[in-house]
Amino acid sequence: MLYKLRCVKCGREYEPDPWRIRCDCGGLLEPVIVRKPTGISWTLFRSRKLGVWRYEELLPKVKGRVTMGEGGTPLIKLKENLWVKFEGANPTGSFKDRGMTVAVSLAKGSGAKSVICASTGNTSASVSAYAARAGISSIVLLPRGKVARGKLAQAILHGAKIVEVDGSFDEALKAVMRVAGKESGLYPLNSFNPWRLEGQKTIAFEIADEIGVPDWVILPIGNAGNISAIWKGFKELKRFGLADKLPRMAGVQAEGAAPIARAFREGLKEPEFVDNPETVATAIRIGRPVNWPKALAALKESDGWTEVVSDEEIVRAHRDLARAGIGVEPASAASLAGYRRMVREGIIKEGERVVLIATGHALKDPDFIPEPEVVRAKDADEAVRLVMSL
Ligand SMILES: *Cc1c(COP(=O)(O)O)cnc(C)c1O
Ligand SMILES: [Zn+2]
Repeated sequence: MLYKLRCVKCGREYEPDPWRIRCDCGGLLEPVIVRKPTGISWTLFRSRKLGVWRYEELLPKVKGRVTMGEGGTPLIKLKENLWVKFEGANPTGSFKDRGMTVAVSLAKGSGAKSVICASTGNTSASVSAYAARAGISSIVLLPRGKVARGKLAQAILHGAKIVEVDGSFDEALKAVMRVAGKESGLYPLNSFNPWRLEGQKTIAFEIADEIGVPDWVILPIGNAGNISAIWKGFKELKRFGLADKLPRMAGVQAEGAAPIARAFREGLKEPEFVDNPETVATAIRIGRPVNWPKALAALKESDGWTEVVSDEEIVRAHRDLARAGIGVEPASAASLAGYRRMVREGIIKEGERVVLIATGHALKDPDFIPEPEVVRAKDADEAVRLVMSL
């Protein structure tokens, strides 16, 4: 057996059952790899196709893969010592696909009747696509009026049953936690599902594979699964002799939804949750991040950092990335906004190598893209004149 499941709260251990999502004490579970899998090396990994399953020895065994070639995303060099990992290049346009290929494969293999999630948008886009691919139905709970248009379009397109909840994402998640489980046959795909995070840890593997382990990895924090997943990935590389150092993890939150960033900065043991989270970056508009214990642990263990950025800083970073050719959604731009603060504050030192995680694609949120400044022509002649005057 590759794994055992361990509770991060009470330490209790379980056999690795896909339906075992939380500890009986309510704590989050972490899949712990029991011993180094035999034969793993960079040479072996590199002999395979790019993507999540390149690292199959470090992932759960599944009966049949539900896959669309997720992962293998571009690592774009912005300038000396600064890269952007462009997760918008995944099949449904966000890093969530890395988790879904693993978790939906497990769900299908263990007799799930249906998969279910609460979502600020991208999880529902990914869940509905991967469920469709697996031939099982999907149910998505969305905060009404708070989901970016592109993401909602994807859920509709892939045939999810949609439940709109009056209230925030946190309210929708509460409902999922209540109905999901073996009795109902509804398999939960939010990031409190530890198997989903196993897929997401491959972001770390790909970065290390391409440029080695950087000094910093900076990413937005919403429900706080991804920061712990990426940190777990780097820790496994070091533990299994595939890397000789660890990065520092930096999490960025928006002013109106920053319980983890604030807790870390103020040295609190637990975050003070936000009842009415607000930010233009809807993907991280979350007031009660369920993975907070894992995220705070990742920040502490990695000697990490957090930043709180304003919506204006997010808007500026979003535009600047776009003008460098990289179209991301607003939450993803928080990475660059946080990086800029860290440089200004002297947290990031001269010569340190930094990777920004750009979590989702610009087309996810078309309403966030500014109105164009257009000039109109009534025919070709006028168009030619206008073009020459530009
Ligand atoms: C889900 C998501 C996040 C937040 O990730 P967490 O694991 O919930 O912290 C950030 N950006 C985008 C685009 C997302 O879809
Ligand atoms: Zn427990």
